[in-house]
Amino acid sequence: MVERIQLLAGRLAGAATAASPLSLPGAVPVPEPQQPLLPRKVPGADFDVLRIRSQFPVLNRRLPSGGFPVYLDSGASAQKPRVVIDAQRDVEEQYFANAHRGTYQFGLRIDEAFEGARADVARFIHAPSADSIVFTPGTTIGLNMIAAGWAVPRLRPGDEILTTVMEHHANFVPWQQAAARTGAVLKFLPLTSDGRLDPSQFDTAFTARTRVVAVTAMSNMLGSINPIRELTRRAHAVGACMVVDGAQSVPHLPTDVTADNIDFLVFSGHKVYGPTGVGVLYGRPERLEEMQPVHFGGHMIAQVGLEKSTWSAPPARFEAGTMPIVQVIGLGAAIRWMEATGLDDIHAWEMHLTGMLYERLSQIDGIRIFGPKPEFRGGIISFRIDGVHPEDLATILDHHDVFTRHGHHCTMPLHTSLNVSASTRVSFGAYNTADDVEAFMRALQKAVERLRG
Ligand code: PLP
Repeated sequence: MVERIQLLAGRLAGAATAASPLSLPGAVPVPEPQQPLLPRKVPGADFDVLRIRSQFPVLNRRLPSGGFPVYLDSGASAQKPRVVIDAQRDVEEQYFANAHRGTYQFGLRIDEAFEGARADVARFIHAPSADSIVFTPGTTIGLNMIAAGWAVPRLRPGDEILTTVMEHHANFVPWQQAAARTGAVLKFLPLTSDGRLDPSQFDTAFTARTRVVAVTAMSNMLGSINPIRELTRRAHAVGACMVVDGAQSVPHLPTDVTADNIDFLVFSGHKVYGPTGVGVLYGRPERLEEMQPVHFGGHMIAQVGLEKSTWSAPPARFEAGTMPIVQVIGLGAAIRWMEATGLDDIHAWEMHLTGMLYERLSQIDGIRIFGPKPEFRGGIISFRIDGVHPEDLATILDHHDVFTRHGHHCTMPLHTSLNVSASTRVSFGAYNTADDVEAFMRALQKAVERLRG
């Protein structure tokens, strides 16, 4: 995955300027930057962002001010294109029924659409088969299922779970709980001073006791892209299982679970331009076989007796009860929309905007931009400005119809290690324009002038 990212990131070479380094306790010097590869094409040259934006109804509605929303919070949740909204309405109006239940006309059609969405997801992330795709309510539940169903039955006292301080709480607290329940130990891959995983520490971080490596492919605060293929290689070399939190990477970067050889990947529908309430847990077939279900009931069983029951094969084993059928079908539509739009192009465009924003922000007096230069990050930038509290800033930006996120972004350990309680985050989606960046910068300048008096 990281190789492709560097390829795409090469388009931005030269766009970066220096930002204040992170002050992580125990941070080590930044290693020599990897040489960005040559660009395949000019950033976003053939990307018709206005056509794309026109497909998102909510971005084309007028606000009470008369203006349009400048939506810069796609890292929290992406907006939905018309095809996703229509696909869901179509189910409810035309053929809704429960899935895997009825053999009447609606039942057959819903099964076809539901399983079609599973095939869409498998193709999109290059999974070996649709059976390795489990639908979940989202990333958080998927990670809890892996921690409780795969890791807890295997972990022994003294075993090590290797993770990072940049994880979202969803990929941190379940492992903390797993460690508490089993006597395993949580260990952290050290970061460089610019907020990347430090490869010079890998040799010592992976040990014969490492059983699970749980890492995000892209940080939702620093924006850092992590070298998943290399981490997986090292995890497997010590016999550990590689769990990847793809919540931020899957919407923005091409994903190939087979080439990366990972064991588990999770992501959420609502961040990939799909609905809320649905997510994906990919598991390598043998890992899914090993994993215990954590939810029990209808559909996931093979036989139920008075004394005991047996489970059906994956993925049904992990899909107890009625699934979010409409949302699964909406997710399939979102995946097809991303494929048709082109993830390489979406990524290149977002990186173009990220480079622009990074450069503009870097010129602000007293700013601290968290995370690495644009070529080592995805389309997320978090920052603090001296004398400007993120909450006050968010309120003023909102008055200018600019929607950003502020707070700890569910990364308290990371914010603590950065010695800040909160930050402001801008995150891009396929529909953002250079005008959005300009509108944000204008609003930011006014806010800073006002808050600094
Ligand atoms: N992991 C990362 C990196 C995230 O950014 C998020 C959400 O922001 C999550 C996990 C949790 O996703 P969800 O709330 O959809 O379960």
